Amino acid sequence: MKKLYIETVGCQMNVLDSELVVASLRKQGFELTDNTSDADTILFNTCSVRQHAEDKIYSALGRLKNAKVTHPHKIIGVLGCMAQKDQRLIFERAPYVDLIVGPGQLHQVPDLIAEIEAGGGQKMEVSLGRKEGTRQQIERSHESFDPLRDAAMRPTPYQAYVRIMIGCDKFCTYCIVPSVRGPEQSRHPDDIIAETRQLADEGCKEIILLGQTVNSYRYREGDRVTRLSDLLTSLHGIDGLERIKFVTNYPKDMTDDLLQVVHDLPKCAKYLHVPVQSGSNRVLERMKRGYTVEDYREMMDRIRHLVPEAAVTSDFIVGFCGETEDDFQLTCKLVHEQRFKNSFIFKYSERPGTKGAELFPDDVPEDVKKRRNNELLAMQNMISEVDNHAFLGRNVSVLVEGPSKASEKSDDPDALQLQLTGRTMCDRIVVFDGNRRQIGQTLPITIYDANAHTLFGAVVTQHVGPELFSLNA
Ligand code: SAM
Ligand code: SF4
Repeated sequence: MKKLYIETVGCQMNVLDSELVVASLRKQGFELTDNTSDADTILFNTCSVRQHAEDKIYSALGRLKNAKVTHPHKIIGVLGCMAQKDQRLIFERAPYVDLIVGPGQLHQVPDLIAEIEAGGGQKMEVSLGRKEGTRQQIERSHESFDPLRDAAMRPTPYQAYVRIMIGCDKFCTYCIVPSVRGPEQSRHPDDIIAETRQLADEGCKEIILLGQTVNSYRYREGDRVTRLSDLLTSLHGIDGLERIKFVTNYPKDMTDDLLQVVHDLPKCAKYLHVPVQSGSNRVLERMKRGYTVEDYREMMDRIRHLVPEAAVTSDFIVGFCGETEDDFQLTCKLVHEQRFKNSFIFKYSERPGTKGAELFPDDVPEDVKKRRNNELLAMQNMISEVDNHAFLGRNVSVLVEGPSKASEKSDDPDALQLQLTGRTMCDRIVVFDGNRRQIGQTLPITIYDANAHTLFGAVVTQHVGPELFSLNA
């Protein structure tokens, strides 16, 4: 058996892409190793959203230079967004890399590895750039390959990502995604339903639908248009499936019909990730997000009205070009007012090739970005903690995902009794003591403690009357 080491950075799309690459390589006789030194093939599935993610990969490649000298037959590959963005530059910076494959060509990885093994030399397969052909040609060059699933590659067999869209056409000025992931394309609903049915038949209880702007999903066939609300309704009918989530939402496409379906369908998680990015209209305009803070507030009011129990989360970029202290205070005001369940906060990272990099200087000093990041995070954590405390004493329904981080690190990884982790319908993380057999079950848990990130609870034990144990019965 040949050994494969794969490291994944970035978003859920990349996690799913890696799952599919591994599934296809297993079929070619590879098994996984978590060690680069005994791997025959080393793959990095990369991210380009921020400079830091790219730096990490170039450092990891640097550390492999000697390994290639001592083991010249080891194959080193760079996959995903950075492969698409940097292309031959990767060969220039790390000439011992054998393989560069963009997100649209991942289905070719097994054949490309076989060609390299056969002495075919370095290989690169990437998609067309956004100006390198007609829309149709560019779309076709960003093919994705979803039918191959391998339950063994998922963190738990009970949960799976399902891609419903690829690419993005929003072109926010800071963002590299539309260049590296190509044009927005929705997948045929029948394929999504068939894949989900297969996952449910294999025992999967929760699916997370993925798209860069997942609520912009639209599939047109003749006169018939399928939107996300229609898709959710179809998926809801699949036996065995218990929960459906979808990420990431775009504020302008959060329509009432979608919110109504989220409210009405019991399997739809009452959880919406709808990044606002900034609380200042001046900044939103420079980001070309296509909405104002007032529009976002109006959308939040509709969410609260139509899905009152929904937990809403957001992303923020601090220190975007020209962001003043007043702009930042407006963002703090919005966080304070909207009480998101949690927020992902990023320091702006200039991305060559984006409109932002071309039009505006990256003029907020690093220490100011850092301070704003810390301040906003502290404010969000305080809100999360207070709101999580509202769960004390309440019973919640938790889909058990597996051992908690703490018990994974424990001395006895095979212990039957251990600390488990799972999530509520509104995506709150719950940690409790249980046993391995409970993994994959949906359990009632009473919450007795909470911090900003986690609820702590105990399994609700049902009272069993003595009559059940009576020897005379
Ligand atoms: N499509 C999603 C959306 O529109 O919200 C998110 C895509 S992006 C991979 C995830 C998050 O990364 C964004 O919401 C944004 O907050 C952040 N991000 C994107 N580009 C960035 C940049 N150049 N610098 C810092 N953060 C960035
Ligand atoms: Fe990037 Fe904006 Fe598209 Fe999200 S919507 S992927 S932030 S361009």
